[in-house]
Amino acid sequence: MEMRETLELYKVTVLLYLDKGRSYVNTQFQELEPWQIIAVTALTTLLGVWLHGFLFQQQSISSRVRKFFFRILRRLPFVGAKIQKQLNKALDDLSTSVLTLKEGMTYVTNLPAHGMTESELLIKLKDYSTMGEVHWEKGQVSGTVYSGEEQLTTLMVKVYGDFAWSNPLHPDIFPGVRKMEAEVVRMACTLFGGGPDSCGTVTSGGTESILMACKAYRDLGIERGVKYPEIVVPVSAHAAFDKAAHYFGMSIVHVPLDKRTMQVDVKAMKRSISRNTVMLACSVPQFPHGVMDPVVELAKLALDYQIPLHVDACLGGFLIVFMEKAGYLLSPFDFRLKGVTSISADTHKYGYAPKGSSVVLYSDKKYRRYQFFVAPDWQGGIYASPTIAGSRPGGIIAACWATMMYMGEDGYVQATKKIIATARHIEAQLKKIKEIFIFGKPEVSVVAIGSETFDIFRLSNAMTSRGWNLNTLQFPSSIHICVTLLHTKNGVADQFVKDVCESVAEIMKNPSERTTGRGAIYGMAQSIPDRSLVTEISHGFLDCLYSTELPGDEKKHMNGESAQH
Ligand SMILES: *Cc1c(COP(=O)(O)O)cnc(C)c1O
Repeated sequence: MEMRETLELYKVTVLLYLDKGRSYVNTQFQELEPWQIIAVTALTTLLGVWLHGFLFQQQSISSRVRKFFFRILRRLPFVGAKIQKQLNKALDDLSTSVLTLKEGMTYVTNLPAHGMTESELLIKLKDYSTMGEVHWEKGQVSGTVYSGEEQLTTLMVKVYGDFAWSNPLHPDIFPGVRKMEAEVVRMACTLFGGGPDSCGTVTSGGTESILMACKAYRDLGIERGVKYPEIVVPVSAHAAFDKAAHYFGMSIVHVPLDKRTMQVDVKAMKRSISRNTVMLACSVPQFPHGVMDPVVELAKLALDYQIPLHVDACLGGFLIVFMEKAGYLLSPFDFRLKGVTSISADTHKYGYAPKGSSVVLYSDKKYRRYQFFVAPDWQGGIYASPTIAGSRPGGIIAACWATMMYMGEDGYVQATKKIIATARHIEAQLKKIKEIFIFGKPEVSVVAIGSETFDIFRLSNAMTSRGWNLNTLQFPSSIHICVTLLHTKNGVADQFVKDVCESVAEIMKNPSERTTGRGAIYGMAQSIPDRSLVTEISHGFLDCLYSTELPGDEKKHMNGESAQH
């Protein structure tokens, strides 16, 4: 009874206020002519639309405000000049460190007037192939070259030669390459537990594989009615996801990691899902710390929300599928988990195929459909293309196919056994050094090192001066080694551990000393609040890569190398 009376009271009050509101508005507009009311309404609506557009953009308002603030800062007479000076210095340092030519070398800037003979060329080529001073063959480089085995190199070169002119864009002319691509995809699907509906394509690399999956899910999302597609990925996910968001006009949400395990925080990922989410992603393992993301839980989450889940196995895909047979157990990560809709895996990493090959796989053809591109009305003919490139290198696909056939399951299992054993050995030995720590629980080939006692980039410097080339990581500062077949050779891993031990001992003589050189640059780059400066310096770096100017005489344009002949 009482409840009813209260409700009635509410109702009367609401009606009263509505009526008050109505008469208030009416008196306010009493003086206005109808056209004025229409004009005010129209303007208010337009303002509302504009405001919505201003507030909700791909880039968050806080990041836009930040950018605006820094832009103003750089225009200020005093501060701006100072920043520019620092910037120029950083760019100068960069160009001297990137542009290393051997004594007497110049750049070719014009075609040679007469074509060179093979023997002339081979001499010239020697100059180029011996320019580097880092010895990857000795296993001193993290990742980068995953096998280097001589017999395999010879085979690749032979196979490439046999298919050098082929192009899968013309399956009628090169049916063999068509068959090889289909077989590479099928073998990979089988390795990753794909069912009869699983499928995929060969791409030019991990980045293209990831781009393709993101593009497919964007288009699927749009078809399902999403207006502003958004992808949700761990902060540890490869930058190719950021590239995909950038290229394909999507927002990207970076989900934090569990600080202890370095796995993505599943609860945070769940909270990041919105009605715009077209895809979730995770990595097995992620690149920075070599940690496997919790795919089992994420697959469940993806299934609950009916959102596609991409598992990035670019780095370790061709290790993890062999780990069970190599004697190392992992939690499930592949198509056997309902919820995993696509996987990227690089044949050109632990698949040991030549650079320029990777696969993107889908649990079902209904996803791959959205990856494809067709221009049905092109004058050049109905144009249907599976990936980003039009013409593609049949020679690389053939060499990839041949590598897989050459390795075979036993070959891959053996290689995996050696690599994982070496990585676990390195991990165990490094854990004995008390001034450093290992991030999370690395289960595959990457071991990431940090320190609470000293700046870890000093260790990076020290290792560089001992001939090693490790990866430097940021947020948090760390370095890692990615173990390849080259590190499994006798004595390499122990030399690495020994060098870390000795370097740490040296550093500990003065643990708080300032970091210098390259290490200092990495440290500084992280602390610059204006990220657009970091971007600008990086653009300078990319420019450097294409420089054909000799240091010292930037303005004098060389006329090829003809002067030398
Ligand atoms: C290497 C890598 C990629 C991208 O591969 P590219 O072949 O360099 O384009 C993607 N994800 C992870 C985890 C990787 O390590």
